[in-house]
Order: sequence, then C-alpha cells, then structure tokens
Amino acid sequence: MKRDQPIYDVIISGAGPVGLFLACELALAKSRVLILEKSENLQSPFKQLPFGVRGLSASSIEALYRRGLLDELEIHKRLKNPHANSVQQGPLRQVGHFAGIPFHEGNIDTSKWKHRLESSTETNLISEMQEMETILTRRAEALGVEIKRGLPLTSFQQTDERVTVQSGDQTFQGQWLVGCDGARSVVRKSGGFEFAGTEPEFTGYSTKVDIADPEKLNPGRNLTERGMYLQSQPGFIVIQDFDAGEFHSSERTITREHVQEVLRRISNTDVTITALHFATTWTDRARQATSYRNGRVLLAGDAAHIHSPLGGQGLNLGLGDAMNLGWKLAATIHKKAPEGLLDSYYTERHPIGAQVLDWSRAQVMIMKPNPQARALNSIIRDLMETTDVSTYMAARVWGIFTHYDLGDSHPLVGYSVPNFEFEDGRRIGELMQYGQGILLDFNTNSSLKTLAKEYGDQVKYVSGRAKEQLGLSTMLIRPDGIIAWASDKEPDEQSIRQAASIWFTQFIS
Ligand SMILES: Cc1cc2nc3c(=O)[nH]c(=O)nc-3n(C[C@H](O)[C@H](O)[C@H](O)COP(=O)(O)OP(=O)(O)OC[C@H]3O[C@@H](n4cnc5c(N)ncnc54)[C@H](O)[C@@H]3O)c2cc1C
Repeated sequence: MKRDQPIYDVIISGAGPVGLFLACELALAKSRVLILEKSENLQSPFKQLPFGVRGLSASSIEALYRRGLLDELEIHKRLKNPHANSVQQGPLRQVGHFAGIPFHEGNIDTSKWKHRLESSTETNLISEMQEMETILTRRAEALGVEIKRGLPLTSFQQTDERVTVQSGDQTFQGQWLVGCDGARSVVRKSGGFEFAGTEPEFTGYSTKVDIADPEKLNPGRNLTERGMYLQSQPGFIVIQDFDAGEFHSSERTITREHVQEVLRRISNTDVTITALHFATTWTDRARQATSYRNGRVLLAGDAAHIHSPLGGQGLNLGLGDAMNLGWKLAATIHKKAPEGLLDSYYTERHPIGAQVLDWSRAQVMIMKPNPQARALNSIIRDLMETTDVSTYMAARVWGIFTHYDLGDSHPLVGYSVPNFEFEDGRRIGELMQYGQGILLDFNTNSSLKTLAKEYGDQVKYVSGRAKEQLGLSTMLIRPDGIIAWASDKEPDEQSIRQAASIWFTQFIS
C-alpha cells in the first residue's frame, strides 16, 4: 500500500444498485466511501429492457422519492405496464402476479391500506437496472463517492480497527467493508458468513433468440406439463426447467442447441432456434446469511440473501437493506450511534429477507409440473378473483405493510411514515432529502422545537397542519423514514427522549 493512500470510512464491494444506493446514503451523511466494482462498465444486455426490467415496490419508490431521485426514473413514464403479457387496460389491467397467476388492478381494494394518503407515492413502478445504476452512479459521484471499475475485491483481512482490501496487487484500507457484490459475493464467502437455506428446483433461462417458426409458441406466460416458458416480446424467451438447478450449477456453456432442446421439451413443440444472441441462467436457490455482520464487515443485497426472481423482490429487498444500513453505519463512524444501533440492521432486515425467501419458495411449489402443484395452483387462481386475496397479494408484493418490530407504543410505530402533505403544499417525504431524522409536530409546540435541538443535526424539527393527519399530534421519524415514536395526544417530552435515545445521541440535556 502506498504511504499517502487514504483510509476510507467505508469500502463497498460492488457497484450494483444496492452498493450504489448504500454509498449515496453514507456519503449523504458525510462519510468517505470507495466502491470497488468488478465490471469495467455498467452496460449489459441483461440490465436493459426487457431482461433488465425490475418492478419497484412501495418502499423502494418511497426511498428514491425521499432522496429526490424518483423523478429521474424515466423508463416507467413510457412503459407503464411491466407485465408484457397483459394487453388489458383499466380494471382488468394485470399489475402483478403470484407464481404466474395474475392479479388485476380492479380487484385491489386500496381503501384497506389505511396509512396510504392521497399524497402517497405510487405502490409499484417499472424500472430498468441500467437506468437505475446510471442515476445512482451520478448521484454517488456528485456526493463524492470514489468508484473504481474493473477492480474486483479479491480478498480482505480485518483487525479491530480496520479492514484491508485487496484487488489483485492493489490494496485499500477502510474502517468498514460492506459486501454488495451480489449472489456469488466474495465478501460473504471469504468473510466467515454462514449462508443457510434450500436447494433449487429449477434452472431459469433468460434468452434472446431468432426463431424460424415462432407461431409454434404461445405469447405470454405458459405453464406446461414440463415447466414454464414466457415470451415477453418476439425472440425474448424465459424458460423454467425443473432440473433441480442442475444445468445452472454445472456452469456449462449455454449453446443454441441446448436452449432449443430445453425449449422444445418444455413447450412440447418442435420449434427451431436459428440463432442464440445471448443467454443467462438463474435458479430458485433460496439462501440467507445467518448474520449480516462479522466484526467490521457487513453484507447487503443479494450478497446477504438470494432467492428466485419470481415476484421480483430482490432489488427491493436490497434497496431496503441499504436504506436501513446507511444512516446507522454513518452514525457509528461519526460516533453518534447509541449502543446497539448497528446491530439493529440485522434484527430489522433479516426477518424481512426471510419473509421474501418464503414468498418465493411458496410460488415455486405451486409452479412445479406435477398434479399436486397443479391442483393447488388452480385453487389459488380461483381465490385470486376475490378482492381480499388480490388485495393481500398486492400488499405483499409491493411491500405495503413492511414493518419493523419496534414495540407497540403506537400502532404506526415501525411502519414507513405516510407522505403527509402540509396545508402549504410541502410533503414530508420531500423534507427528508438530507437524510436526517424528523420530529414532526402537527400542533407547532415551541417546546418540541427546543427538544429537537438536543440532537443537533441528527433531528430536524418540522411543524405545520397537514391535510390528513390520521389523528396524530406528533411523530419521531428515523432518517430512513420509519416511525420511531408517535402520539395522538399532547406529547410527553420524556417519552420522546426515551424513544430518541435508541436512535440518536443527545448532545444537550
Ligand atoms: C431475471 C431476473 C429478474 C428480476 N426481477 C426483479 C424485479 O422485478 N424486482 C426486484 O426487486 N428484483 C428483481 N430481480 C433481482 C434483482 O436484480 C437483484 O436482487 C438485484 O440486482 C440485487 O442487487 P445487488 O446490488 O445486491 O447485486 P447485483 O445487482 O448482482 O450487483 C452486484 C455487483 O457487484 C459486482 N461484483 C461482483 N463480484 C465482485 C467483486 N468480487 N468485487 C467487486 N465487485 C463485484 C457485480 O459486477 C455487480 O455490479 C431479478 C433478478 C433476475 C435474475
């Protein structure tokens, strides 16, 4: 290592969406961040439409909105519907699916989602990986993050004080290392993390091919007696082959002949593929790190949890990790973290990850090409026609009720703050751009303004009447938008201080 090399606050391995979003959160909180990224550039056909399409859930949309990034996403403005096989508009428009069973807009009763307001952001949007990474790269660089591309993390060592990271013959030092290096994370594998879970049922293929006789295939998603194939646009074929993940694990080269053989078998046709332009495979292996931290090394995103892309939740889960971890790690670096703050990253995020893994396992079980799965599949298909089930499915897929167990002092504690709109037009989400906590006071009580000052720049005091207040008088909101404390009555300052002491350091008492 060269003598004058800096010691970064945090080194992040991987400039995927999670690494980039985390870097932005850390830099927003004035931390010095280096990202090492294996790829030379971020262009890839698998990050572009249609394979690069990613459904964003309510919590990701809120996260981007709260940091002023939502308006920069352009793809969804021209491609409203992520479900290419849905030709219907209006109430019959398909807005999501469970195991390929669609749910429709008209069957979702959003009035059941009590804390979503007129002014709330969307519940779901389409995005494209490449666009997302481009936007996040721009923001990270503007905030001073250093991104070194073409430099994979190859190994690291940690002491009580710092982490030394190697990329080939280059060495970097940081106080902390976060592995955001995806499903095959080197940080996870060499960091002593246990990765527990279940083995795959299938190999999934995403391919771009030329087909001599495309009329032999049906458009859209097709569950067959041998698996599933989906033709989103002519030539863009996704296949699920229930081979227990054997082909994916073998790491054999994907040839035209192989894809043709699999597609013929799954579609039960003699379709002919004349050219294979690109192809990748994936599985439904579902594993999760049993700890997200080992000393000065942490994991986030696919590095911490993998599951099948069915229902599209991996990116959302990872962005949620980054939003949760960023401010906590920054507070730890700047010595503003109360005891246990960093550990709450794992206790809050691990259960959310476990739920998503189970959600994906449940889908795989009813997609299997056997009579038992078919029977269950047809029952779920019938149930999906009911408002209750469609509303439940949409809420789960879009993360409407994402909740951390922060005690039961008020029913809203642990949930994302509703996007209150004040009478003067300000919206609470837009006041969170700088990543501070907020003491929200609907009654403009001057003693609360004084109380907020006890926490310096960690907590901002915001007051005013909102158009809809849900019966609340005061709230303490964490930098990630989660309600830490709330009251419907005249607030008791001592109980605000008690709640704040879990998340912030008091400088004046
Ligand atoms: C077909 C498919 C469809 C999907 N659809 C959806 C969806 O609709 N919604 C959704 O939420 N999720 C979806 N997902 C999942 C989603 O894409 C992932 O969960 C998400 O990309 C994870 O982000 P990440 O940043 O953790 O990891 P990645 O996106 O994998 O990024 C990791 C980065 O680390 C880099 N890297 C790897 N090793 C190293 C190393 N040693 N050193 C430095 N850098 C390294 C990689 O080059 C990469 O840039 C889908 C996935 C697939 C396969």
